[in-house]
Formats: sequence, structure tokens, C-alpha cells
Amino acid sequence: MNRIVVIGAGQAGASLVAKLRMLGFAGEITLIGAEPVPPYQRPPLSKAYLLGEMTLERLFLRPESFYADQGITLRLGQPVSAIDPVARTVTLGGELLEYDALALTTGSLPRHLPALIGGDLPGVHVVRALADVDAMAPEFQPGRRVVIVGGGYIGLEAAAVAAKKGLDVTVLEMAPRILQRVAAPETSDAIRALHQAHGVKILEATGLERIEGTSRVEGVSLSDGRRLAADFVIAGIGILPDTALAEAAGLEIENGIRTDAQGRTSDPHIWAAGDCASFPWRGAQLRLESVQNAIDQAELVAANMLGAGKDYAPVPWFWSDQYDLKLQIAGLNTGYDRVVLREADARSHWYFAGGKFLAVDALNDPRAYMVGKRLLEQGKSPEPALLADPATDLKLLLKA
Ligand code: NAP
Repeated sequence: MNRIVVIGAGQAGASLVAKLRMLGFAGEITLIGAEPVPPYQRPPLSKAYLLGEMTLERLFLRPESFYADQGITLRLGQPVSAIDPVARTVTLGGELLEYDALALTTGSLPRHLPALIGGDLPGVHVVRALADVDAMAPEFQPGRRVVIVGGGYIGLEAAAVAAKKGLDVTVLEMAPRILQRVAAPETSDAIRALHQAHGVKILEATGLERIEGTSRVEGVSLSDGRRLAADFVIAGIGILPDTALAEAAGLEIENGIRTDAQGRTSDPHIWAAGDCASFPWRGAQLRLESVQNAIDQAELVAANMLGAGKDYAPVPWFWSDQYDLKLQIAGLNTGYDRVVLREADARSHWYFAGGKFLAVDALNDPRAYMVGKRLLEQGKSPEPALLADPATDLKLLLKA
């Protein structure tokens, strides 16, 4: 194998190509990205970068010279238009690039509010790419009114930045509570209270009827018949895996680009990793939308492209910064039937299913996060009564 092509120059693509070289692959590597900038970190986009506390240079994962030094060809600013899995080529503009192995790290695309309800009016923004945030940042002026549609991490992190900058902020969540998809009611309650303490209005079980305005956003009308004036709108209503190229190439799709446990797609010469890829996990195809997954899965795929033959077995982790709260999550809470609350110096919420420990939400509690993550790595389930007792030294649970 001499030529590896990677489509998608986000976190997963950048991690994959770096790992290939680290593992000693000496052949040609080409990393292709649709955006005109070298691979950058996405997590700060809705946090420090939006707040204006982080420069563009610090956003880049590595200096551009890294790729040249490593003999990695970057092809930026142009999307691949097709993959031919039989000829083993990808089409880039008028060019055909040949590959021996191909990796798809195409990531995901933000869901947009439909144009039919005003989703295409100037002043409606999404938070996904650097260009989205650069377009939105000038709107963040003190006293302006923003309506944020969606109470997931994107919406809530943008709300925290807007509140800090002195805007008038309203978050709309269609579901009965914010963070319903990802967290227990106890975590939603803590985060709601935090936002309300900063003056953010949180409207749950409230849908958006339409965005009003003639030449740009002027307000929104809600499912309960109310109308709110707004200077701009941010949609944080989830993401969809970017599977278009894979689908057109005839690869199997199931909750994203379907891969086996090693990251190989239904074509033996094509691999996938990151937001766009699903992998077998507890009898289903799981897709994880997190930077940790983008890095770990991509590095594993790099090793497997070179013949390592390893299965992916992640212990997922996430974090979110809102105001002075650092929320850290270890594990996946899917299917939980019990939440154990621990209130010692800080708070943590521990998820169980049938007595098995699944995940922890740690609120400004790095120790609970670290212990929870280690317990998951060791396959251990702590005793709920011990967890709930503030006198318990959490580190002792690791020795039990
Ligand atoms: P998300 O977690 O899917 O949250 C979107 C929320 O918007 C959901 O609660 C959804 O409700 C709601 N919603 C959808 N349509 C709506 C509508 N028309 N009106 C009102 N509410 C609506 O997605 P996200 O917050 O956009 O984030 C995108 C991805 O990036 C996620 O995977 C997220 O975890 C990740 N991310 C992570 C971090 C972090 O780890 N710190 C930060 C930012 C983003 P339903 O669930 O009922 O559809």
C-alpha cells in the first residue's frame, strides 16, 4: 500500500494522518478539506473563540508547517465530488486522485431551520464551522436580543457567551426540558438554574412556529402563540452525519457510514471515523458526536489501515463550559434506570442500569469525573450508598 487519501480535514482527519506517520507509514498521504483553512479545533467555537478570548492561530490543531514537514499533502478549499470504489479514485475539481486505501472523516452538518418558516432569513445562524462563527460574532453586541433555538450543548454554550456579553437571551427547547437527549433531569435542572441566574430565559416544551421579518430577522412566533422580538436567531438543533459521498459511492449507511468494529466500511479499501461513522456497540450501530471519539476512532483506524486489527472499545467522555461551570461527563447513560446524586464539595450525578454503572455527570468536580472514568475503564460498579455518602473518599472506590 502506497497511497492513502483522507477526505475531511477536521479533527478526525487531522488525527488520522498524524497517526499514520507516527506509526511509520512512509507512503503518500493526502488530506482533503472543503473549508479553506487547515484543520482546527471545533469545541472552542461555541466557547472561548465566540467570546473573543481565543485567537485564530490557537484554534488550529497544528501549524501549517507540520503537514509539509511530515510530507502530508493538504488539499484545502475544495470538496471531493465523487468516489469511484472500483477504480479507487476520488474526484477533486477536474482531477482524479488514486488511492490504495481511503478514509472518510467527513464529519457532520448542522440541521437548518426550514426556509418555509423563515430559516433562510439574514440573521439566522448555525454554529458548526469557523465561517459560521465569524459571521455570527459581530451580532454579539450588548443589549441586542437573541433567540436560541435548541437547548442542547450548542445552544446552551452560545447562550452563556451571549449572556456574558450582555445580550438579552432566550433559549427555546421543544422537548420538556433542556439537555433531554443527553442528560438526567437533575443535570438539566442544575444547568437551567445556572442560566436563569445569569438572566437567560429558558422556555421548555416550546417550539418555534416561524421566524418573522421582511429583509432580516425581526422576531419569532412560538407554538404557544406568543411572539418575541429578536435581532438575530441561532439554531442549535442538532447535526446529521455527512454521508452524501459515501452513499453515492454505494457504501452501506446505518446511522451514519456503517463500519465494522475496526472502522472498515462495506468496501474493504475504505474506512471511516468520527462524527460520520457508526460502529457496532451492544448490538446496534452507535455514532458518537464528540471530539474524543473523533480522535480515538481516527487513531485506531490509522493503526488498522496499517494492519493492527484492533477493535474499537471507547470509554466516551465529553465536557461543556458554561459560565464558571465545567461539566464533565464520562461514559454513556443510554438505558439508565437510576441516578445517584452525590453532593460533597461539588455535585455529581451517577447513572446506573440494573445495578451496572454507566456514566457520571460531574459539575465542577474533576475528582468525580476522573474516578468515574477509571471505574468505567476497569468495568467496576460502585456501591450507590457509598457514592451518595459525602464522607466517602471517592478514590477508595477504585480499590474496592
Ligand atoms: P443536540 O444535542 O441534538 O441538541 C439540539 C436540541 O435542540 C435538542 O434538544 C432538540 O430537541 C432541540 N430542537 C430540535 N429542533 C428544535 C426546534 N425546532 N425547536 C426547538 N428545539 C429544537 O445538538 P446541538 O446542541 O446542536 O449540538 C450538535 C452536536 O455537537 C451534538 O452532538 C453535541 O453534543 C455536540 N456538541 C458538544 C459540545 C460539548 O461536548 N461541549 C458542545 C457543542 C456541541 P429534540 O432532542 O427533542 O429533537
